[in-house]
Amino acid sequence: MEADDLAPATIAIIAGRPKRQPDAPLNEAVSFASTFHAGGPVAYGRDGNPTWTAFEDALGALEGGTALAFASGMAASMAVLDEVPIGGVVVAPVQSYYGTRKLLGDAPDGRWTVRFVDIADTKATLDACSGADLLFAESPTNPLLEVADLSALCAGAHDRGVVVAVDNTFATPLGQRPLGHGADVVVHSVTKFLAGHSDVILGATVTHFGKGELHDRLRRRRSSHGAIPGPMEAFLALRGLRTLALRYERAEANAGVLAQRLVDHPAVERVRYPGLPADAWHDRAAAQMTGPGFMISFEMFGGAPVAEAVARSGRLIVHATSLGGIETTIERRGRWPGEEATPPSLLRLSVGCENVDDIWRDLEHALTIGTCAGTPGLSPIAFQGIVVPRPLPGEPRRCPMGGRRSG
Ligand SMILES: *Cc1c(COP(=O)(O)O)cnc(C)c1O
Repeated sequence: MEADDLAPATIAIIAGRPKRQPDAPLNEAVSFASTFHAGGPVAYGRDGNPTWTAFEDALGALEGGTALAFASGMAASMAVLDEVPIGGVVVAPVQSYYGTRKLLGDAPDGRWTVRFVDIADTKATLDACSGADLLFAESPTNPLLEVADLSALCAGAHDRGVVVAVDNTFATPLGQRPLGHGADVVVHSVTKFLAGHSDVILGATVTHFGKGELHDRLRRRRSSHGAIPGPMEAFLALRGLRTLALRYERAEANAGVLAQRLVDHPAVERVRYPGLPADAWHDRAAAQMTGPGFMISFEMFGGAPVAEAVARSGRLIVHATSLGGIETTIERRGRWPGEEATPPSLLRLSVGCENVDDIWRDLEHALTIGTCAGTPGLSPIAFQGIVVPRPLPGEPRRCPMGGRRSG
């Protein structure tokens, strides 16, 4: 059977397997190898590894292109950014993953010029593409969940001779396939939903089948820069990828329920989730994506102190950075230096695969006591079963009821 005929859920399970023959294992083994017997195309462990290849075959089949595994999402992004000639121009979203903005901004003087744009504004982005070398798009964006019009951006950028890369971390190939919209290369933080278990750092590029030269340059760069994955990481990521569809379907369904309940909650000022009919990017996401995905961002009444207290009040929901794990995590993005432009009370919720009512009960509890703990003078007496927000390391316990409880 050709991969073209198969659903993504099936591809995630069958691609990247060893050849079927008697007593062959079903899974590619972890090849701990720095060197290989001479005479083959790989030869040295910085240039290739069978465990990477198995992962790459599976991810490439899912995205509809040719994949390369890198040490991290940032290593994959950097390999793509090295396509930009010295003194060239990169167009990138002003609201996007903080690490990418930092990578662009921290480059040595003269390395490149960055034109930051509102990536959801197609005309402004394409205007900025005139005379540029690379459009490094992200959609939906981290953490504001803005949706870029990928087809229009790819077509317009190509008209202007600009190469298009799309960071597809938030959508995964189950949510959207940017290569099908015309992108030249997709970048992933495999660390997130693709690997899916918060236990591995890994990245990947996936190039369009028609872009063999770009793929070859990226591969050479990976070898020479040495930003290579460990074989164990590739194995874990492939193992996570096998259940991608199951996890994605559950997490997305959970997110849809939670987003609507957040909209209806009086302590929540605004919910950003492209699955909500009232969301600014609902229609664009519906046209371009298979669904709105598993990430929700929402803003709290009461500002940063309330949001911070909510983030720290989960008992089931984990207070942690990163996203895309099987467990639900939450954080206030504005707590990071460099995230000053993010609304201070914005909480980014990475919805996991737990029972949705269990997640909601915990979230509702966190919203209640977070609001009480973060709002001076507000008494939470009316609420049953109250637990104080967890203190940061070194911080004294604060109690919304006046300091006597320590639960
Ligand atoms: C986390 C993340 C990255 C960076 O990936 P690492 O694996 O942490 O290096 C890039 N893009 C987005 C959208 C991310 O969320």
